[in-house]
Amino acid sequence: MQTITILGATGSIGASTLDVVARHPDRFRVYALTAHSQVRKLAEQCLRFTPQVAVVGSAEAAKELESLLQQAGSRTEVLHGEQALCAVASARDCDTVMAAIVGAAGLAPSLAAARAGKRVLLANKEALVMSGQLFMDAVEQSGAILLPIDSEHNAIFQCLPHTYGRRPDGHGVSKILLTASGGPFRTRPLDTLASVTPEEAVAHPNWVMGRKISVDSATMMNKGLEVIEAHWLFGAPADRIEVVIHPQSVIHSMVSYDDGSVLAQLGNPDMRTPIAHALAFPERIESGVGPLDLARIGRLDFEAPDMARFPCLRLAYDALLAGGTAPAILNAANEIAVEAFLERRLAFHSIPAVIEGVLQKLPAPDVGSIDALLEQDRTARRVALSLIS
Ligand code: NDP
Ligand code: MG
Repeated sequence: MQTITILGATGSIGASTLDVVARHPDRFRVYALTAHSQVRKLAEQCLRFTPQVAVVGSAEAAKELESLLQQAGSRTEVLHGEQALCAVASARDCDTVMAAIVGAAGLAPSLAAARAGKRVLLANKEALVMSGQLFMDAVEQSGAILLPIDSEHNAIFQCLPHTYGRRPDGHGVSKILLTASGGPFRTRPLDTLASVTPEEAVAHPNWVMGRKISVDSATMMNKGLEVIEAHWLFGAPADRIEVVIHPQSVIHSMVSYDDGSVLAQLGNPDMRTPIAHALAFPERIESGVGPLDLARIGRLDFEAPDMARFPCLRLAYDALLAGGTAPAILNAANEIAVEAFLERRLAFHSIPAVIEGVLQKLPAPDVGSIDALLEQDRTARRVALSLIS
């Protein structure tokens, strides 16, 4: 029996994870489920999956959850706050942690799971973008098994040779080809981007996802974060990570080898495939995703990304090349800009301008500790807020 903690259970990835888990009751047991404020949804999940522990964001939410669970006769223990998230991510009673909190809020618990040597299923790309080397060092020191959930990185992981480990030295890997759908605005006239609404930005053509990552997909900051994520996961330098637009989202990414071979992983755009892959790795289990009907899809298209249309992609490459805390600053500024856009305080096309402004204002030295990193994150948020207002 594999025992699982799902951080961010009430989100899009969390719900897809529970869907796969429910298909294999003899294989998986849920140890803990966490949410931030969606108490009712978490209560329903707790009654169905009977975890030992549930964690929410505040004492108030915990009280509400406790009363809902007590009424239903549940014995799930209810905790709240960041320390509790870290505790369930590193608990002795769990061996696998799905890290699916959105944004920097997921850093501490994801890192706690890595430090505790868990099998870490990483969806929370922002945590790795922020902490980079510190995160990978924690994985190495504890012997944690880090498995990518992001569909592109999961595809790359599947296309790399099994002997590869995490470093591309040798093995004949020449390039990582990261596919991108191009999001909802790939072909929209450039001069209309200023008037994009949050509703338009979160309506992704191929994937159903949380609001923040949907906006990131529309600006292509998501792909930028994924370039940085690929750098850390696979040890590839920026010039060996190439983004290719592929509007159908059928090829989830590719690995190109020195002999000219290119290996790809294909599938329907449904996160249950990479989730099932990582849950069961190295075995394969049923995920609920239907077969890929290539004849019906008919064609697969590719094009180069338009950096003028998507300045966020260039900003992310630049931050990776700049090193130090530049990726963490980029991530913090992006989180603030996206939130402001969703609250209609910032125009869509000003998102990259805010991020670039913050990166220009702040030095980005290397830091050796998470505390120093979090200090940089807070500063970047303050500067982003002041630029927006
Ligand atoms: P959602 O917004 O759907 O879900 C986010 C989850 O995190 C919810 O459970 C939410 O709780 C919880 N949460 C939000 N804020 C906090 C906080 N401050 N403290 C603790 N928990 C919090 O996001 P997604 O599922 O779409 O994305 C999750 C992560 O996975 C992101 O990092 C994203 O980039 C990555 N990812 C997602 C993909 C997708 O298809 N959705 C694909 C690839 C990567 P509550 O519901 O109570 O607010
Ligand atoms: Mg992705």
